[in-house]
Amino acid sequence: GAPITAASVDPLSAHFPLCMRSLHMTLRKNNHLKHFGRLQYSLFLKGIGLSLDECIVFWRQSFRGYTDDEFNSKYKYNIRHVYGDVGGDVNRRGRGYPPYSCQRILTESAPSTGQTHGCPYRHFSVDNLTALLQTTGVHDKDILRGVKEDVEKQRYHIACNRVFEWAHKAEIKKVKEDGSWNQTDLDTIVHPNTYFKRSYLLKT
Ligand code: SF4
Repeated sequence: GAPITAASVDPLSAHFPLCMRSLHMTLRKNNHLKHFGRLQYSLFLKGIGLSLDECIVFWRQSFRGYTDDEFNSKYKYNIRHVYGDVGGDVNRRGRGYPPYSCQRILTESAPSTGQTHGCPYRHFSVDNLTALLQTTGVHDKDILRGVKEDVEKQRYHIACNRVFEWAHKAEIKKVKEDGSWNQTDLDTIVHPNTYFKRSYLLKT
């Protein structure tokens, strides 16, 4: 498809898993994200194919109310670091760090008050999780009940897959019926970038 640019992120966010949608919505609401949120989101955006230059444009435009000097001195370096454009580790030059897997997001540095990184299925209260799901169009009572049961059993990524399968029900049925996808194409999702890619391929 067409190259992914800073301007593509808003429309593409419909395909993002809840962790990244939550970051995106918070960024749009506050025109700012804290450090770990920027890190988790920048790595994900790199993983969907946003180039370093476009990623800098994306954050620059998103951080309204900051001057170019403030933006450049406070935030730009970390974005370049994510992409391996700067930093001490020569082995990562030009590549930077890999996007975080669900496992890593679920188990590392839980967000404290005011932070929005992490996995909403794990790190949000059930009430806040339900409200967030409803904001993204998940209103089905059976799905919301299933999610609640999953998270009570600490099966967070199962909850995420449940929502994915529900949101892509028609498309999954179609690719199964016409044989264009097999079961391995529909394995349990354990990486936010897999969630995006699969959603994008199914819906477009
Ligand atoms: Fe994101 Fe993985 Fe949590 Fe889904 S299970 S919201 S992809 S961290």
